[in-house]
Amino acid sequence: MATSADRPHDLLIKKACLADAEGNIDLAIRDGVIAALAPNISEPATETIDAAGGLVTCSFVEPHFHLDKCLSRPLVGAITPEEAFARAHEAKIHFTVADVEARASEALRLAVAQGIGHMRAQCDVDYATKLISFEGLLRARERFADAIDLEIVAFPQEGMVKDAEAPGLLREALAGGADAVGGLPEAELNVDDQRRHVALVLDIAAETGVPVEMHCDYMDHAELKTLAMLAAGTLERGLQGRVTASHCNALANYSDDEAKAVIEQVKQAGISVAVLPVANLQMLGGPKRTPYNRGSSRVKELLDAGINVAAGSDSMFDIWYRFNRLDPVETGYIACLSAGMRTDEEVQTAFDMVTARAARMVGKAAAISVGAPADLVVHGVSNIVQVLRNLPGRRLHIKNGRVVGGQDSSNWCIR
Ligand SMILES: [Zn+2]
Repeated sequence: MATSADRPHDLLIKKACLADAEGNIDLAIRDGVIAALAPNISEPATETIDAAGGLVTCSFVEPHFHLDKCLSRPLVGAITPEEAFARAHEAKIHFTVADVEARASEALRLAVAQGIGHMRAQCDVDYATKLISFEGLLRARERFADAIDLEIVAFPQEGMVKDAEAPGLLREALAGGADAVGGLPEAELNVDDQRRHVALVLDIAAETGVPVEMHCDYMDHAELKTLAMLAAGTLERGLQGRVTASHCNALANYSDDEAKAVIEQVKQAGISVAVLPVANLQMLGGPKRTPYNRGSSRVKELLDAGINVAAGSDSMFDIWYRFNRLDPVETGYIACLSAGMRTDEEVQTAFDMVTARAARMVGKAAAISVGAPADLVVHGVSNIVQVLRNLPGRRLHIKNGRVVGGQDSSNWCIR
Protein backbone atom coordinates (compact mmCIF):
# COMPACT_ATOMS: atom_id res chain seq x y z
CA MET A 1 0.00 0.00 0.00
CA ALA A 2 1.35 3.45 -0.92
CA THR A 3 2.04 5.75 2.01
CA SER A 4 2.61 9.47 2.04
CA ALA A 5 6.35 8.76 2.35
CA ASP A 6 6.31 7.24 -1.16
CA ARG A 7 5.35 10.47 -2.86
CA PRO A 8 7.59 13.50 -3.28
CA HIS A 9 7.73 16.19 -0.62
CA ASP A 10 5.51 19.15 -1.46
CA LEU A 11 8.32 21.64 -0.98
CA LEU A 12 12.05 21.46 -0.37
CA ILE A 13 13.98 24.49 0.89
CA LYS A 14 17.68 24.01 0.15
CA LYS A 15 20.65 25.63 1.91
CA ALA A 16 18.75 27.46 4.64
CA CYS A 17 20.44 29.12 7.57
CA LEU A 18 18.69 28.62 10.91
CA ALA A 19 19.37 31.02 13.78
CA ASP A 20 20.38 28.28 16.22
CA ALA A 21 22.21 25.86 13.89
CA GLU A 22 25.70 25.68 12.40
CA GLY A 23 26.00 25.41 8.61
CA ASN A 24 23.27 25.22 6.01
CA ILE A 25 20.33 22.90 6.31
CA ASP A 26 17.50 21.67 4.08
CA LEU A 27 13.84 21.67 5.11
CA ALA A 28 11.43 19.16 3.55
CA ILE A 29 7.75 20.04 3.81
CA ARG A 30 4.79 17.76 3.37
CA ASP A 31 1.08 18.28 4.08
CA GLY A 32 1.72 21.71 5.59
CA VAL A 33 4.25 20.61 8.20
CA ILE A 34 8.02 20.28 8.37
CA ALA A 35 8.70 16.61 7.55
CA ALA A 36 12.50 16.60 7.73
CA LEU A 37 15.43 18.83 8.65
CA ALA A 38 18.87 17.68 7.51
CA PRO A 39 22.02 19.05 5.83
CA ASN A 40 21.48 17.44 2.41
CA ILE A 41 18.02 16.08 1.67
CA SER A 42 18.09 14.32 -1.68
CA GLU A 43 14.53 13.02 -1.74
CA PRO A 44 12.38 14.40 -4.57
CA ALA A 45 10.05 17.35 -4.08
CA THR A 46 7.33 18.90 -6.21
CA GLU A 47 8.83 22.35 -5.72
CA THR A 48 12.30 23.38 -4.64
CA ILE A 49 13.49 26.75 -3.33
CA ASP A 50 17.18 27.56 -3.10
CA ALA A 51 17.58 29.69 0.02
CA ALA A 52 21.26 30.18 -0.94
CA GLY A 53 22.32 30.54 2.68
CA GLY A 54 19.47 32.88 3.58
CA LEU A 55 17.99 32.88 7.07
CA VAL A 56 14.74 30.95 7.55
CA THR A 57 12.54 32.04 10.46
CA CYS A 58 9.01 31.35 11.60
CA SER A 59 6.55 33.67 9.92
CA PHE A 60 5.89 37.00 11.59
CA VAL A 61 3.07 37.73 14.00
CA GLU A 62 1.45 41.18 14.05
CA PRO A 63 0.11 41.24 17.63
CA HIS A 64 -1.88 44.48 17.53
CA PHE A 65 -3.33 46.17 14.46
CA HIS A 66 -6.53 48.17 13.92
CA LEU A 67 -7.53 46.42 10.71
CA ASP A 68 -11.07 47.81 10.56
CA LYS A 69 -9.90 51.43 10.56
CA CYS A 70 -6.78 51.21 8.38
CA LEU A 71 -6.66 53.41 5.27
CA SER A 72 -9.57 55.52 6.54
CA ARG A 73 -7.57 58.67 7.31
CA PRO A 74 -9.11 60.78 4.50
CA LEU A 75 -12.53 60.48 6.17
CA VAL A 76 -11.54 62.79 9.04
CA GLY A 77 -8.08 64.14 8.23
CA ALA A 78 -5.11 65.10 10.36
CA ILE A 79 -5.83 65.51 14.08
CA THR A 80 -4.01 65.42 17.39
CA PRO A 81 -4.04 62.40 19.76
CA GLU A 82 -6.50 64.19 22.06
CA GLU A 83 -8.81 64.95 19.13
CA ALA A 84 -8.50 61.35 17.93
CA PHE A 85 -10.07 60.13 21.19
CA ALA A 86 -12.91 62.64 20.84
CA ARG A 87 -13.52 62.21 17.12
CA ALA A 88 -12.88 58.51 16.47
CA HIS A 89 -16.58 57.94 15.87
CA GLU A 90 -16.69 60.45 12.99
CA ALA A 91 -14.90 58.18 10.53
CA LYS A 92 -16.82 55.11 11.63
CA ILE A 93 -20.24 56.46 10.80
CA HIS A 94 -19.18 56.30 7.13
CA PHE A 95 -18.13 52.64 7.31
CA THR A 96 -20.04 49.97 5.41
CA VAL A 97 -19.43 46.23 5.48
CA ALA A 98 -18.10 46.32 1.91
CA ASP A 99 -15.83 49.28 2.61
CA VAL A 100 -14.32 47.67 5.72
CA GLU A 101 -13.82 44.42 3.80
CA ALA A 102 -12.09 46.27 0.94
CA ARG A 103 -9.71 48.27 3.17
CA ALA A 104 -8.95 45.24 5.35
CA SER A 105 -8.28 43.14 2.25
CA GLU A 106 -5.79 45.68 0.96
CA ALA A 107 -3.97 45.58 4.29
CA LEU A 108 -4.04 41.78 4.46
CA ARG A 109 -2.54 41.53 0.96
CA LEU A 110 0.29 43.72 2.19
CA ALA A 111 0.66 41.73 5.43
CA VAL A 112 0.90 38.43 3.53
CA ALA A 113 3.51 39.89 1.16
CA GLN A 114 5.60 41.00 4.18
CA GLY A 115 5.54 37.55 5.78
CA ILE A 116 2.89 37.99 8.48
CA GLY A 117 1.32 34.60 9.13
CA HIS A 118 -0.90 35.65 12.03
CA MET A 119 -2.53 38.99 12.77
CA ARG A 120 -4.38 39.92 15.95
CA ALA A 121 -6.78 42.52 14.58
CA GLN A 122 -8.63 45.01 16.73
CA CYS A 123 -12.19 45.63 15.54
CA ASP A 124 -14.36 48.45 16.88
CA VAL A 125 -17.69 47.22 18.21
CA ASP A 126 -19.70 50.16 19.52
CA TYR A 127 -22.69 52.46 19.08
CA ALA A 128 -21.11 54.13 16.03
CA THR A 129 -20.27 51.08 13.93
CA LYS A 130 -22.43 48.43 15.69
CA LEU A 131 -21.33 45.13 14.08
CA ILE A 132 -20.62 46.65 10.64
CA SER A 133 -16.83 46.67 11.02
CA PHE A 134 -16.96 43.18 12.51
CA GLU A 135 -18.95 41.84 9.55
CA GLY A 136 -16.43 43.43 7.19
CA LEU A 137 -13.51 41.76 8.96
CA LEU A 138 -15.28 38.39 8.98
CA ARG A 139 -15.56 38.63 5.19
CA ALA A 140 -11.90 39.62 4.83
CA ARG A 141 -10.88 36.75 7.13
CA GLU A 142 -12.73 34.31 4.90
CA ARG A 143 -11.08 35.70 1.75
CA PHE A 144 -7.56 35.34 3.14
CA ALA A 145 -8.05 32.16 5.17
CA ASP A 146 -5.41 30.23 3.21
CA ALA A 147 -2.75 32.90 3.60
CA ILE A 148 -3.02 34.40 7.10
CA ASP A 149 -4.58 33.49 10.45
CA LEU A 150 -6.74 36.41 11.46
CA GLU A 151 -7.70 36.72 15.11
CA ILE A 152 -10.41 39.33 15.75
CA VAL A 153 -10.53 41.28 19.02
CA ALA A 154 -13.94 42.85 19.70
CA PHE A 155 -12.88 46.31 20.86
CA PRO A 156 -15.14 48.84 22.67
CA GLN A 157 -13.35 51.95 21.43
CA GLU A 158 -16.07 54.31 22.69
CA GLY A 159 -16.12 52.91 26.22
CA MET A 160 -18.02 50.30 28.21
CA VAL A 161 -19.72 52.77 30.58
CA LYS A 162 -19.92 55.83 28.33
CA ASP A 163 -21.24 53.63 25.51
CA ALA A 164 -24.07 51.63 27.04
CA GLU A 165 -24.50 49.56 23.87
CA ALA A 166 -20.95 48.22 23.93
CA PRO A 167 -21.24 45.34 26.45
CA GLY A 168 -24.15 43.75 24.56
CA LEU A 169 -22.48 44.26 21.18
CA LEU A 170 -19.26 42.68 22.46
CA ARG A 171 -21.16 39.58 23.54
CA GLU A 172 -22.84 39.42 20.12
CA ALA A 173 -19.50 39.68 18.34
CA LEU A 174 -17.99 36.97 20.53
CA ALA A 175 -20.95 34.71 19.83
CA GLY A 176 -20.54 35.48 16.11
CA GLY A 177 -16.88 34.54 15.73
CA ALA A 178 -14.72 37.14 17.48
CA ASP A 179 -11.76 35.50 19.22
CA ALA A 180 -10.91 37.90 22.03
CA VAL A 181 -12.28 40.87 23.93
CA GLY A 182 -10.58 44.27 23.95
CA GLY A 183 -10.73 47.39 26.07
CA LEU A 184 -9.80 51.05 26.35
CA PRO A 185 -10.45 52.38 29.86
CA GLU A 186 -9.18 55.81 28.79
CA ALA A 187 -12.32 56.21 26.72
CA GLU A 188 -14.26 56.76 29.95
CA LEU A 189 -14.91 60.13 31.59
CA ASN A 190 -13.44 59.50 35.03
CA VAL A 191 -11.30 57.09 37.03
CA ASP A 192 -14.25 55.25 38.61
CA ASP A 193 -15.65 54.53 35.16
CA GLN A 194 -12.22 53.37 33.98
CA ARG A 195 -12.24 50.85 36.82
CA ARG A 196 -15.75 49.73 35.85
CA HIS A 197 -14.65 49.43 32.22
CA VAL A 198 -11.80 47.09 33.20
CA ALA A 199 -14.14 45.03 35.40
CA LEU A 200 -16.83 44.73 32.71
CA VAL A 201 -14.33 43.52 30.09
CA LEU A 202 -12.66 41.03 32.45
CA ASP A 203 -16.06 39.70 33.54
CA ILE A 204 -16.96 39.01 29.89
CA ALA A 205 -13.62 37.21 29.44
CA ALA A 206 -14.20 35.14 32.57
CA GLU A 207 -17.71 34.27 31.43
CA THR A 208 -16.83 33.38 27.81
CA GLY A 209 -13.30 31.99 28.20
CA VAL A 210 -11.74 34.25 25.56
CA PRO A 211 -8.42 36.07 25.92
CA VAL A 212 -8.26 39.79 26.74
CA GLU A 213 -6.24 42.47 25.02
CA MET A 214 -6.68 45.84 26.68
CA HIS A 215 -5.29 49.24 25.68
CA CYS A 216 -3.73 50.58 28.87
CA ASP A 217 -2.13 53.91 29.70
CA TYR A 218 -1.98 54.96 26.05
CA MET A 219 -1.12 58.60 26.70
CA ASP A 220 2.25 59.52 28.17
CA HIS A 221 0.67 60.96 31.34
CA ALA A 222 1.95 59.65 34.67
CA GLU A 223 -1.48 60.06 36.29
CA LEU A 224 -2.94 57.25 34.19
CA LYS A 225 -3.20 54.01 36.20
CA THR A 226 -5.15 51.62 33.99
CA LEU A 227 -2.36 49.03 33.67
CA ALA A 228 -2.41 48.61 37.45
CA MET A 229 -6.24 48.31 37.35
CA LEU A 230 -5.94 45.57 34.71
CA ALA A 231 -3.35 43.66 36.73
CA ALA A 232 -5.45 43.83 39.91
CA GLY A 233 -8.61 42.73 38.08
CA THR A 234 -6.78 39.87 36.35
CA LEU A 235 -5.49 38.54 39.68
CA GLU A 236 -8.89 38.91 41.36
CA ARG A 237 -10.54 36.73 38.69
CA GLY A 238 -7.71 34.22 38.29
CA LEU A 239 -7.23 35.13 34.63
CA GLN A 240 -3.42 34.89 34.75
CA GLY A 241 -1.89 34.02 31.37
CA ARG A 242 -4.93 35.09 29.38
CA VAL A 243 -4.46 38.85 29.34
CA THR A 244 -2.39 41.24 27.23
CA ALA A 245 -1.94 44.95 27.89
CA SER A 246 -1.09 47.13 24.92
CA HIS A 247 0.65 50.52 24.60
CA CYS A 248 1.50 51.12 28.31
CA ASN A 249 3.24 54.41 27.49
CA ALA A 250 2.44 56.09 30.82
CA LEU A 251 4.60 53.49 32.56
CA ALA A 252 7.66 55.24 31.11
CA ASN A 253 6.67 58.39 33.00
CA TYR A 254 5.98 56.92 36.43
CA SER A 255 8.61 57.35 39.12
CA ASP A 256 11.07 54.43 39.13
CA ASP A 257 9.59 53.11 42.39
CA GLU A 258 6.03 53.22 41.12
CA ALA A 259 7.00 51.64 37.79
CA LYS A 260 8.79 48.83 39.64
CA ALA A 261 5.70 48.10 41.74
CA VAL A 262 3.36 48.07 38.71
CA ILE A 263 5.73 45.86 36.69
CA GLU A 264 5.81 43.39 39.59
CA GLN A 265 1.99 43.37 39.64
CA VAL A 266 1.92 42.79 35.85
CA LYS A 267 4.35 39.91 36.26
CA GLN A 268 2.26 38.32 39.01
CA ALA A 269 -0.85 38.65 36.86
CA GLY A 270 0.88 36.83 33.98
CA ILE A 271 0.10 39.73 31.65
CA SER A 272 1.92 40.07 28.33
CA VAL A 273 2.66 43.55 27.01
CA ALA A 274 2.38 44.68 23.39
CA VAL A 275 4.33 47.86 22.71
CA LEU A 276 3.41 49.92 19.65
CA PRO A 277 6.36 52.23 19.03
CA VAL A 278 5.73 52.63 15.30
CA ALA A 279 2.59 54.70 15.78
CA ASN A 280 3.15 55.93 19.32
CA LEU A 281 6.51 57.60 18.71
CA GLN A 282 4.87 59.98 16.30
CA MET A 283 1.64 60.53 18.21
CA LEU A 284 3.08 61.16 21.67
CA GLY A 285 5.89 63.08 23.28
CA GLY A 286 4.32 66.08 24.95
CA PRO A 287 3.56 69.57 23.63
CA LYS A 288 7.13 70.91 23.58
CA ARG A 289 9.04 71.28 20.30
CA THR A 290 11.38 68.48 21.33
CA PRO A 291 9.57 65.36 22.58
CA TYR A 292 10.34 64.93 26.28
CA ASN A 293 8.20 61.90 26.90
CA ARG A 294 8.44 59.21 24.29
CA GLY A 295 5.64 57.08 22.93
CA SER A 296 7.19 53.96 24.33
CA SER A 297 7.07 51.88 27.46
CA ARG A 298 9.70 50.54 29.85
CA VAL A 299 10.60 47.70 27.52
CA LYS A 300 13.86 46.63 29.15
CA GLU A 301 12.45 46.71 32.67
CA LEU A 302 9.46 44.62 31.55
CA LEU A 303 11.81 42.11 29.89
CA ASP A 304 14.09 42.07 32.93
CA ALA A 305 11.08 41.14 35.06
CA GLY A 306 10.46 38.11 32.83
CA ILE A 307 7.34 39.55 31.18
CA ASN A 308 6.58 38.56 27.60
CA VAL A 309 6.85 41.71 25.47
CA ALA A 310 5.90 41.85 21.79
CA ALA A 311 5.86 44.72 19.29
CA GLY A 312 3.11 45.66 16.87
CA SER A 313 2.41 48.47 14.46
CA ASP A 314 -1.06 49.55 15.73
CA SER A 315 -2.43 51.69 12.91
CA MET A 316 -2.00 52.44 9.22
CA PHE A 317 -3.11 55.64 7.54
CA ASP A 318 -6.04 56.27 9.88
CA ILE A 319 -6.77 59.15 12.25
CA TRP A 320 -4.29 57.80 14.78
CA TYR A 321 -1.26 57.34 12.52
CA ARG A 322 -0.54 58.32 8.96
CA PHE A 323 2.32 55.97 7.97
CA ASN A 324 3.02 52.22 8.30
CA ARG A 325 3.37 49.60 5.63
CA LEU A 326 2.81 46.59 7.86
CA ASP A 327 6.40 45.42 7.72
CA PRO A 328 7.21 43.51 10.92
CA VAL A 329 10.95 43.89 10.27
CA GLU A 330 10.43 47.63 10.37
CA THR A 331 8.37 47.27 13.56
CA GLY A 332 11.14 45.21 15.16
CA TYR A 333 13.72 47.74 14.02
CA ILE A 334 11.82 50.68 15.50
CA ALA A 335 11.15 48.73 18.70
CA CYS A 336 14.88 48.07 18.95
CA LEU A 337 15.82 51.73 18.45
CA SER A 338 13.11 53.21 20.64
CA ALA A 339 13.95 50.93 23.58
CA GLY A 340 17.71 51.44 23.23
CA MET A 341 18.34 47.74 22.58
CA ARG A 342 22.01 47.60 21.68
CA THR A 343 23.68 44.30 22.53
CA ASP A 344 23.53 41.20 20.29
CA GLU A 345 21.15 39.61 22.78
CA GLU A 346 18.88 42.66 22.85
CA VAL A 347 18.75 42.86 19.05
CA GLN A 348 17.78 39.18 18.98
CA THR A 349 15.06 39.97 21.54
CA ALA A 350 13.75 42.84 19.39
CA PHE A 351 13.41 40.42 16.47
CA ASP A 352 11.71 37.89 18.77
CA MET A 353 9.19 40.64 19.65
CA VAL A 354 7.77 40.33 16.12
CA THR A 355 8.22 36.54 15.86
CA ALA A 356 8.47 34.13 18.81
CA ARG A 357 7.36 36.50 21.57
CA ALA A 358 4.46 37.82 19.52
CA ALA A 359 3.48 34.22 18.74
CA ARG A 360 3.49 33.34 22.44
CA MET A 361 1.32 36.38 23.14
CA VAL A 362 -1.38 35.09 20.79
CA GLY A 363 -1.08 31.54 22.13
CA LYS A 364 0.96 30.01 19.31
CA ALA A 365 4.16 28.00 19.31
CA ALA A 366 6.91 29.27 17.05
CA ALA A 367 9.47 26.60 16.34
CA ILE A 368 11.30 25.26 13.33
CA SER A 369 11.27 21.54 14.08
CA VAL A 370 10.03 18.32 12.56
CA GLY A 371 6.25 18.18 12.91
CA ALA A 372 5.85 21.96 13.33
CA PRO A 373 3.64 23.90 10.91
CA ALA A 374 5.50 25.06 7.80
CA ASP A 375 4.72 28.74 8.44
CA LEU A 376 8.03 30.28 7.48
CA VAL A 377 9.86 33.23 6.00
CA VAL A 378 12.92 32.73 3.80
CA HIS A 379 15.07 35.86 4.01
CA GLY A 380 17.56 37.12 1.43
CA VAL A 381 20.29 37.52 4.03
CA SER A 382 21.77 35.14 6.55
CA ASN A 383 21.30 36.65 10.00
CA ILE A 384 19.00 38.90 12.01
CA VAL A 385 21.27 41.95 12.01
CA GLN A 386 21.39 41.86 8.20
CA VAL A 387 17.63 41.37 7.99
CA LEU A 388 17.20 44.55 10.06
CA ARG A 389 19.93 46.38 8.12
CA ASN A 390 18.56 45.53 4.69
CA LEU A 391 15.04 46.81 5.17
CA PRO A 392 12.78 46.04 3.41
CA GLY A 393 14.94 43.19 2.08
CA ARG A 394 14.09 40.19 0.01
CA ARG A 395 11.85 37.57 1.55
CA LEU A 396 9.50 34.74 0.69
CA HIS A 397 6.47 33.87 2.82
CA ILE A 398 5.36 30.25 3.21
CA LYS A 399 2.04 29.37 4.85
CA ASN A 400 1.06 25.75 5.50
CA GLY A 401 3.88 24.66 3.20
CA ARG A 402 2.82 26.83 0.28
CA VAL A 403 4.39 30.04 -1.00
CA VAL A 404 1.78 32.77 -0.42
CA GLY A 405 3.75 35.99 -0.69
CA GLY A 406 7.06 37.74 -0.68
CA GLN A 407 8.91 40.76 -1.77
CA ASP A 408 12.05 41.71 -3.57
CA SER A 409 14.09 44.83 -3.29
CA SER A 410 16.87 46.15 -5.45
CA ASN A 411 18.83 47.29 -2.39
CA TRP A 412 19.16 43.91 -0.66
CA CYS A 413 22.77 42.95 -0.96
CA ILE A 414 24.75 41.98 2.09
CA ARG A 415 25.01 38.62 3.75
ZN1 LIG B 1 -4.42 50.03 19.54
